[in-house]
Amino acid sequence: MSIKGAVLYAPRDVRFEEQPDLTIVEPTDAVIRIPAACVCGSDLWPYRGIEPVTQPTPMGHEYCGIVEEVGPAVTSIRPGQFVIGSFFASDNTCLNCRAGYQSSCQHRQLVRGAQASRTRVPLADGTLVATPELPPNDLVPSLLTLSDVMGTGWFAAVAANVRPGSTVAVVGDGAVGLLGVLSAKQMGAKRIIAMSRHEARQRLAREFGATDIVTERGDEGVSRIKEMTGGVGADSVLECVGTPESMLQAIGATRPGGSVGYVGVPQGVQLEGQALFFSHVRLHGGPAPVRRFLPQLIDLVWNRQIDPGKVFDLTLPLERVAEGYRAMDERRAIKALLCP
Ligand SMILES: [Zn+2]
Repeated sequence: MSIKGAVLYAPRDVRFEEQPDLTIVEPTDAVIRIPAACVCGSDLWPYRGIEPVTQPTPMGHEYCGIVEEVGPAVTSIRPGQFVIGSFFASDNTCLNCRAGYQSSCQHRQLVRGAQASRTRVPLADGTLVATPELPPNDLVPSLLTLSDVMGTGWFAAVAANVRPGSTVAVVGDGAVGLLGVLSAKQMGAKRIIAMSRHEARQRLAREFGATDIVTERGDEGVSRIKEMTGGVGADSVLECVGTPESMLQAIGATRPGGSVGYVGVPQGVQLEGQALFFSHVRLHGGPAPVRRFLPQLIDLVWNRQIDPGKVFDLTLPLERVAEGYRAMDERRAIKALLCP
């Protein structure tokens, strides 16, 4: 069947156009029909030309939807199910998957082309997790966030070792940072300091559980966090941006023995060995192993204990996807929801 979806041709040139026929290619594939898609903060790197665009590229890696067709080797996923998967397809059986690092699966494949009415998901049995039944429409945005942005915020908090009673600081007020706040709250953090200068984002951070807002950045931001934590820094810091400044701010705001969970895709970050050595700070991060968290997060959304879909503050018909990119690029929108 032919489909229409978003294709990036060059920086700031996103087109909504007809794409080649979408079919099962490998026997382990599934094809899903997408009720809602979205634009990711990481889509903005190629959109801005910071990552080169060498050929027309189908965009979108966050997805959920109804299974339409499965390949002959798929055994656990069936047509008609509502499923969610990660941006990295994984077999969920190799050593890395079994260790909980499905985004380092030895057979991982990047899912692309999900800003479309349908998409193909490789390794369907390992990648997709079905909801208990078809979800009501109002849960779909929250379920969609589990595919990447919510799973990534959750991993940031796990990697930063957030515990009941922890003091947490969150660097970055994009959708991932805001959902990092929500995750830290769920994990029982006592104090959650959101670093943001943007009023609408501060409001959402508070709604998600932030107890304090710090507007200072860089060295001043680090000093503020230290002032608020007896001079030492936070137990856990979530780094959700990926720039040299945000990484140094995160490490500087962490107490000796504390942990930084970093999930912003690094752009030009270089760390100095001696400074890191004497900081006594643990660093863990990387592309979130979303698949590890899907069963638990689906459960939390299904039972309406969390509402991560609140990060969508702009809804557009899918054919106006280019407007979604523009609004996020200009920081007019936190995250754009696209409805086919
Ligand atoms: Zn694997």
